Amino acid sequence: MERLDEALDAWRHVLGADQVLVDEGTREAAERATFATTQRVPAVLRPGSREEVQTCLRIAQQLRVPVFPVSAGRNYGYGSRVPARTGCVLLELGRMNRVLEWDEELAYLTVEPGVTFAQAHAFLEERESALQLATIGGPPQASLVGNALERGDGSGPHGDIFQYVCDLEVVLPTGELLRTGLGRYPGAQAAAVQRWGPGPGLDGLFSQSNLGVVTRMTFWLAPRAACVRIVSAPLEQAEQLPEVVDRLRLLRLEGTLREAYSLWNDCKMLSVLGQYPWERMGGRTPLPPEVRAQLREEQGLGPWHLSFLLQAPSEEQAQAAWGRVEAVLKGVAPTLTCYREEEVEPEALRRVPSARNLRMMYWRQRTPPPAEPDPDRDGCGFLWLSCAVPMTGSHVERALAVAEPLPLQYGFEPNLCLLGVGARSAYLVVALVYDRKVEGEDARALACYHALHGAMNEAGYYPARLGIQAPVLAAPPGDDSGRVLGALKAAVDPHGILAPGRYLPFHFV
Ligand SMILES: Cc1cc2nc3c(=O)[nH]c(=O)nc-3n(C[C@H](O)[C@H](O)[C@H](O)COP(=O)(O)OP(=O)(O)OC[C@H]3O[C@@H](n4cnc5c(N)ncnc54)[C@H](O)[C@@H]3O)c2cc1C
Repeated sequence: MERLDEALDAWRHVLGADQVLVDEGTREAAERATFATTQRVPAVLRPGSREEVQTCLRIAQQLRVPVFPVSAGRNYGYGSRVPARTGCVLLELGRMNRVLEWDEELAYLTVEPGVTFAQAHAFLEERESALQLATIGGPPQASLVGNALERGDGSGPHGDIFQYVCDLEVVLPTGELLRTGLGRYPGAQAAAVQRWGPGPGLDGLFSQSNLGVVTRMTFWLAPRAACVRIVSAPLEQAEQLPEVVDRLRLLRLEGTLREAYSLWNDCKMLSVLGQYPWERMGGRTPLPPEVRAQLREEQGLGPWHLSFLLQAPSEEQAQAAWGRVEAVLKGVAPTLTCYREEEVEPEALRRVPSARNLRMMYWRQRTPPPAEPDPDRDGCGFLWLSCAVPMTGSHVERALAVAEPLPLQYGFEPNLCLLGVGARSAYLVVALVYDRKVEGEDARALACYHALHGAMNEAGYYPARLGIQAPVLAAPPGDDSGRVLGALKAAVDPHGILAPGRYLPFHFV
């Protein structure tokens, strides 16, 4: 406690008292997520520059006070901005929100951690850029950097976001500074366009880790396609799914499909389109199969719904791509339809960051989502589990056999989605949606989450990213990586002050 007070004084000296927040309202908000948490946050720091981040970390290291960095702190379903361990001071980087470089010719954008998807999109629009940034289906106010560090996914040809970033500037927990690529050499001309410099590649070390605070990152952009088509199909039978997945893999591998496809089940569709039918259900949960079938019928949905974008530089290429898609998929998805840009609402193009999908967090709420959704404040119960599954029909079937029945056993709808972000693997993403105001639901949801997580791991389908609800895996890895990464952590963070418990160490000890 004494050390914390000393650190707070030192931070006030560096940042000014108004950027060291200790009031109850701020602290309580920082302790709240979309599921039950017990972590206490003694203060929130808001540095405004990389130099201030360095000084803040030196003070933390010297006085052994743990800090937890967030860029925008909208990591909904994975812990929002609540630290992995109690007692961490939140290092909130939202004030560092400058676009540092934009190059239309070489197609990249370099940003500070506080730059949001909405802001970056508006920046490019204002300059009439012909380039597009991968756009997530999540909050428009989420940050590019926080999302990329979590290895998030988005729309567009650069949807596997962390694959298309370079030249990270990182403040180590000691306050030292590091650049991951050529940027470390004075005057390097290709720093923003060449991922690797000579020597070991370091980028990956700082994603999903607690080895440093990233204060600058370059994102590669893709040209906006002249022609965009939206392809979608409700599957009439769940049994069609494995064959559809096998065909989609072919389209991804050969490059006809240059970006991720989504397969949403009926529960996920319903949760974005509306809210739980409380009246019809007389207040009972979860949704029984017959009501689920009725809702599907009423909304014109199938048990699964496929959608993806085809982007092409010319009308002829768009026609040819659609022809190929039809030839490959029509036999297994006869309802396949192709829409032109002008036939759909702009949100469906996924070019503009939109809050549309945030509605799903309000599925079990009794009142409609507010104009400015704040799921932490509004008591939305929401947990994500995203696991990597090889992109074959048989693997998807096996993974679904594990993931689908468990939510119902705990009283939740199986809200599922399969995202074909890569060409060889997909993410099976399960959302547990509930109302935190209902007594006992918080505990039940976490029990369900852990059961699901354990069962998926046991079947060999491991998570692609982790939330603070399970910050590390329960079982140790089968090699020496736990020890090696532990040694690395000790070398760069001698007193373990940076985001303790976030991803590293690898497992509970
Ligand atoms: C309905 C819904 C839809 C969603 N859709 C998507 C989607 O399409 N794609 C997707 O990827 N996610 C999605 N999400 C999940 C999540 O909201 C996003 O990933 C979001 O980008 C994360 O929040 P953030 O950018 O504010 O990151 P933050 O909360 O700021 O950061 C996330 C984590 O990264 C680390 N971190 C952050 N900044 C730094 C830094 N500067 N240095 C070191 N470590 C740092 C911390 O561990 C932190 O906990 C969705 C969520 C919801 C509820």
